[in-house]
Amino acid sequence: MIRLGIDLGGTKTEIIALGAGGEVALRRRVPTPRAYDGLIRALGELVQGAETDLGGRGTLGMAIPGTESFGTNLIKNANTTYLNGRPLRRDLEEILARPVRLANDANCFALSEASDGAAAGAATVFGVIAGTGVGGGVVIDGKVLGGAHGIGGEWGHIPLPAPSIEEVTTAPLCYCGKRGCLEVWCCGPGLAADFKRATGRIATAEQIAASDGTEERAAMDRLIDRFARAMATLVNILDPDMIVMGGGLSNVDRLYRDLPPLVEKYGFNLGGPPRIVKNMHGDSSGVRGAAWLWSETKP
Ligand SMILES: [Zn+2]
Repeated sequence: MIRLGIDLGGTKTEIIALGAGGEVALRRRVPTPRAYDGLIRALGELVQGAETDLGGRGTLGMAIPGTESFGTNLIKNANTTYLNGRPLRRDLEEILARPVRLANDANCFALSEASDGAAAGAATVFGVIAGTGVGGGVVIDGKVLGGAHGIGGEWGHIPLPAPSIEEVTTAPLCYCGKRGCLEVWCCGPGLAADFKRATGRIATAEQIAASDGTEERAAMDRLIDRFARAMATLVNILDPDMIVMGGGLSNVDRLYRDLPPLVEKYGFNLGGPPRIVKNMHGDSSGVRGAAWLWSETKP
């Protein structure tokens, strides 16, 4: 059994073939075409080329930077904007003569880590991506929880819970049109903006996270407290067996020490800290999760 996965990125598109045990049988990268028709053609060639080299047909899953609308099956919310309003799955199924499964990249991240990554074996997994923005995905018993509108796990656009007066008055506007989403607080640019508001100084998230300075540490404390309030809200609803972190901020070791007790403090009588771990597959999680979208073929 060959499982093919494709990660459709803004600049690069990657294909991977996973063998029965999750081992990588093939991996290729091509530049992402700049127009829709070229993309469909390129994806067809990528799959056919991989299958020629592998000597067999595979299932195909794809991680997309957006969501497939339920009902119409047209792509929405994609930052590769030429995808929006397009019937991507139908067009791929036509050219490749097989069913294709699509999921957004945060869901693929969660599925990858739940299938054979840091949360392998856990029944309910919440995958958090905290990098240039905030994303999330829920996997239950090896299946992505898409939801009625395809936005299951999209916790980036819930408002920061239990905000202080200062957080209410300084809450930045989010690109989604609302104010004070997690997306503007709990990500790299959010950390840098918070640091600048508090100190007047300019630094990147990496510089702040790596520094021993008092002001930098205070900014990290605020970030972690905000994360903990947000995670406590989702723990109260979902109570996941594991929370897996991805994205640039997942490299901050302090998160794994400081977050669990704070989430326990803000949660409803959890009786112990939640398990919050770093991802195992890093940048490959999107493409691996796409392949695992055909999870019933799992060994
Ligand atoms: Zn928002």
